[in-house]
Amino acid sequence: MDKGFRSVMPPTYDLNKIKFATDEAAFRRAVDLYESGKVTEAEEAFGDFTAVVLGTKPYRVSVSGRRYKDAHCTCYLGERGTLCKHVAALALYAVLNGKPLTAEDKQQTSEVKCSGRRGALNKEELDAVKKSITESMRYIKPYSGPSRTWFANQDSLREGCARLSAIVSDLPVGRQTAEILVKLLLRLDRKLQVGGVDDSNGIVGGFMSEVVGMLQEFAQVDPACIDAFEPLCGRQTCFGWEEPLVRILDERE
Ligand SMILES: [Zn+2]
Repeated sequence: MDKGFRSVMPPTYDLNKIKFATDEAAFRRAVDLYESGKVTEAEEAFGDFTAVVLGTKPYRVSVSGRRYKDAHCTCYLGERGTLCKHVAALALYAVLNGKPLTAEDKQQTSEVKCSGRRGALNKEELDAVKKSITESMRYIKPYSGPSRTWFANQDSLREGCARLSAIVSDLPVGRQTAEILVKLLLRLDRKLQVGGVDDSNGIVGGFMSEVVGMLQEFAQVDPACIDAFEPLCGRQTCFGWEEPLVRILDERE
């Protein structure tokens, strides 16, 4: 691998942005491409990056240093407006300036995992969590066509869910955070039912089911969390995701 760019204007985004915006398989392959020196002829000009990435064939790839989504690649997926592994590999190159990735850098944690530790957030932490949830929710966008933007729209849903996964996996277990999660589920449900979000790939629904699973764990760690399920009684939700939680509530009463 060469030694990076000579006069580099670093991207305004960081490694986390690439992780959140790239699905697991593409991120893993991008890391492979990057580490095996398949990003060649990399150049930076006025904050934009170009390279030839050696995949099945050599592909011409470009990515903006300001917006990771402003990218292009001559591969099949790239031509269809999806963020492919070649774009991700070049973005890694731009962010790391040719430096090696650490084991932690390569870890992409998009799965929802209960922290298992009991506790509550203080006022500042609570505000910060609410703010980051609201920011992540912006990625859960309605799809209104044209059809060539569908992949980009699905990428956006995936990024929103990856961001939300990181937030919820970091929460302590308690009644307060259970309420936050129930509210989050209801907000997502509204987006699916009346918000025009096209979840035919099940990205948002899959995330919601994982959060429901996490709330079941919450109820085991701290039974006071069950009170937070109350608003779910008698709701018509988009795919009946609330059922396991309502059952826990019923069984307690
Ligand atoms: Zn590509």
